[in-house]
Amino acid sequence: MHKINFCSGPAVLPPTVYNKAIEAIQNFDHTDQSILELSHRSSSIVSMIQETKLLVKELLAISDEYDVLFLHGGASMQFCMIPMNFLSTSTKAYYTLTGQWASNAFHEAQLLGNADALCSSADSNYNYLPSLQQAYTLDNSAYVHFTSNNTIYGTQWKSYPSFNCPIIVDMSSDLFSKKINVHQFDLIYAGAQKNIGIAGVCMVIIKKSLLEKQNKLIPTMLNYNTHLLHESSFNTPPVFAIYTCNLNLKWLKSIGGVQEIEKINQMKAQLLYAEIERNSLFDCTVAKPEDRSLMNVTFVAKNKEIEIAFKDFCKKNNIVSIDGYRTVGGFRASIYNAMPLQDVQLFVEIMKSFESKI
Ligand code: PMP
Repeated sequence: MHKINFCSGPAVLPPTVYNKAIEAIQNFDHTDQSILELSHRSSSIVSMIQETKLLVKELLAISDEYDVLFLHGGASMQFCMIPMNFLSTSTKAYYTLTGQWASNAFHEAQLLGNADALCSSADSNYNYLPSLQQAYTLDNSAYVHFTSNNTIYGTQWKSYPSFNCPIIVDMSSDLFSKKINVHQFDLIYAGAQKNIGIAGVCMVIIKKSLLEKQNKLIPTMLNYNTHLLHESSFNTPPVFAIYTCNLNLKWLKSIGGVQEIEKINQMKAQLLYAEIERNSLFDCTVAKPEDRSLMNVTFVAKNKEIEIAFKDFCKKNNIVSIDGYRTVGGFRASIYNAMPLQDVQLFVEIMKSFESKI
């Protein structure tokens, strides 16, 4: 039975990705060995990791000023690695507090140095994006940190101001979902389990010149330089997780890359937001259309009774993981790259049918 899985991460993968991943578990790259049993120093794994890096650079049109790393520890490990590497005793980091993950990142920076909030939408449970100036000159700034897409609350930055310091962005839930100009940023990171692959690897796109700003002793495993110098294989890398990224990025390339997926993602989000606005039983959680995420569509029922009935209706119609995050409630439909347009259309039909039955 086909299930429509709206999980926010780990999220759905294109079927071709997991079918090829299954093949690789049995026989990777004609080696007659499982990818799970091959040395990360073997030529086929070394070239697979290299190929994945080149795919990232090609799909996002990244110049050689940048390197691509595949690290352990999820996106959450980046929350502490960033201040450890780039915040000194004489500088300050600035954070845009637009959700739980942004606040977690800020917390780590505060533990390790001097960090301030540039803006915050905590006053209204993060259901909007604070308005920003076009340009900032920040005192003693080490960097400014953004969360491009707020997975829990359903907001997404569509553009960024300019700053007199490096810009670091957590793109865990929207990297590869649309065209971006990587050269606008100094470090981008993303846990793979939403739009890129499976849990276990975090992708980091780093401007190499940023490393010149390191000025203190950093534990070896937490130092970006270690991973840069050792091509993400200083220790045993999460080979299988990286391979799922490789397969997923090949799939993305085969359908026309970020330019094409962006069009599809826009169609999916427009369909869903339009139905939530039209349907007499639901409301969007994020009021301003320009703040709304194309990846995580958050909405609430008009009352508790409707909420309970719709959850039950979803279950009966094979819709899974549609519950909103516990701090928001209601519903959240995560519609990352691998969520087919047809499934969103089907879900819209289900919402209409629910309205007509209640
Ligand atoms: N940042 C964002 C935007 C996220 O959505 C998440 C996870 N949902 C994280 C960071 C944390 O990622 P991880 O679980 O890989 O540490």
